[in-house]
Amino acid sequence: MAVRRIRQLGDPILRVRCERVQNPKSAATRLVADDLRDSLAVARKKYKMGRALAAPQIGAPVRIVFVQMDKQRWTMINPEVTDVGRDDFLVWDDCFSFPNLLVRVNRAYQITVSYTDPKGKQHTMEVEGPMAELLQHEIDHLDGILALDRASGVDPFAFRSEWEKVHKPGERYGPPKPREV
Ligand SMILES: [Zn+2]
Repeated sequence: MAVRRIRQLGDPILRVRCERVQNPKSAATRLVADDLRDSLAVARKKYKMGRALAAPQIGAPVRIVFVQMDKQRWTMINPEVTDVGRDDFLVWDDCFSFPNLLVRVNRAYQITVSYTDPKGKQHTMEVEGPMAELLQHEIDHLDGILALDRASGVDPFAFRSEWEKVHKPGERYGPPKPREV
C-alpha cells in the first residue's frame, strides 16, 4: 500500500488508452486498487474535494477506478457504460489532475455501468445525477479523455477561486434536460 503522486495535466500517461485487466483477482490488481484508495484519501484531505481516482492518475495505465461516495466505496475493474438514458445535464466538473480549474461539460444524466469487482464478480449499476457524471468522468480517464476535452458552451473554463465568487456550490449541477440531437 502506498500513496502515489497524482499525475498532473500535461503528463502523457493521462492520455494513454488503458489496458483491460485480465485477472481482477491478481496481486497486481489489488496493489493498484489499494494505492488508489490510499492516494484518494490523502488527496481528499489536501483539496477538501474528490470522490474518485482512475488508475492512470497514479501512473498505472490499467482499467481500474476507485470511487468513494459518502461512506460507500467501489473498486471497479474494466468499467463500461453499457446504456445511457434520454436526458443530459450540465456539470461544472473538476479533476485531481487539474485541481484548480473547473470545466463546464455536458454529461448523460442516467447511465448503466457494468464492471467487475476485486473478487471477480460482475456487477451492473444504474445511476443518475452526480454519480452518473462521476463515473463518466472516471471511465473517460481510462480512454485518455479529460473533462477539458468535453468543454461545452461559451466560456466553459474557470479557476475554482473565481468560480466560487460568482456561483453557489449548488450550481455545479444543472437540471436534467432531454438530449439535443
Ligand atoms: Zn479526473
